[in-house]
Amino acid sequence: MDLKTRETIQWERMLPEEFRAAFNRLPVVYLPLGTVEWHGEHNALGLDSLKAHALCVTAARQSGGIVHPPLYGGMGGLHKPATIRMEPEDTWDNHLLRPWLEKFCGECHRLGFKAIIMLTGHYGHNQQIVVREVGARMTERLQSPVLGTPEYWLALDVGYLGDHAGIGETSLLWHLEPDLVAIERIKNDPDYGKDGHIEAGSSPELGKKYADTITDRLAKLAQAMPTWDFATRSAFVRAERALVSAQVRGWRTDQPWAAWRKLRTPPFTDYGRLLVAERFDEIEAFAEKLVDGEIETSS
Ligand SMILES: [Zn+2]
Repeated sequence: MDLKTRETIQWERMLPEEFRAAFNRLPVVYLPLGTVEWHGEHNALGLDSLKAHALCVTAARQSGGIVHPPLYGGMGGLHKPATIRMEPEDTWDNHLLRPWLEKFCGECHRLGFKAIIMLTGHYGHNQQIVVREVGARMTERLQSPVLGTPEYWLALDVGYLGDHAGIGETSLLWHLEPDLVAIERIKNDPDYGKDGHIEAGSSPELGKKYADTITDRLAKLAQAMPTWDFATRSAFVRAERALVSAQVRGWRTDQPWAAWRKLRTPPFTDYGRLLVAERFDEIEAFAEKLVDGEIETSS
């Protein structure tokens, strides 16, 4: 093995010299999150973690930084075969993921990392709350930026609105891990294959379009986050907290997806662009409108 001719940004594959070099170049850690969960007859079961990991690896090749191995396990999961549900989706209970993430952030801080990006490829509404809330809380606790977000929030404005084994996820995995999608098998799936729209709409090209937007934004964030000063971090925390507050409030007054569902419409689809531009006050302002004044009735 010749360390001079290879470059890895994957923590578990590094020799210490490689870790030191990557850390010195950019002391930022990416943590991909997901689970093993049924994703139709056409997708590999680890889609969420595989997707998040591949996106982090691609981003880190641009930005520098170090990608931690993906976590398999989280909040919720379908009542389907080959699916692990570590914690419930529709209750407030959370005894595993939150402390695990907080400990992880503390450990990375102890090692000297200057920013953490937790990217979840699994996004039940409660998983989203926990990950984003931990990001805001640990940013304050460590006085070092921690972002916790699903990948689709960074691609809303190019048309990926988040789905489960639908056109978006299937296309992303098809692009990122071509051997792990067998689109023709969807014909045998009574749920995902029933009207043919996922087979017709999915393609690796569409996955590339979403992935390129996500990884470009991740890379920009990874390079910028260590430079955020106190005022910038504080504005970031206010914005992220406002998003979580809207979602939690909507969950009580309306239904579990109240605020997260509204993200799929303008102006909320601007989240990724505003985040990279560090226009946190604008995110905070629109978060106030995620639930106020309207009651969603559809399910
Ligand atoms: Zn998924």
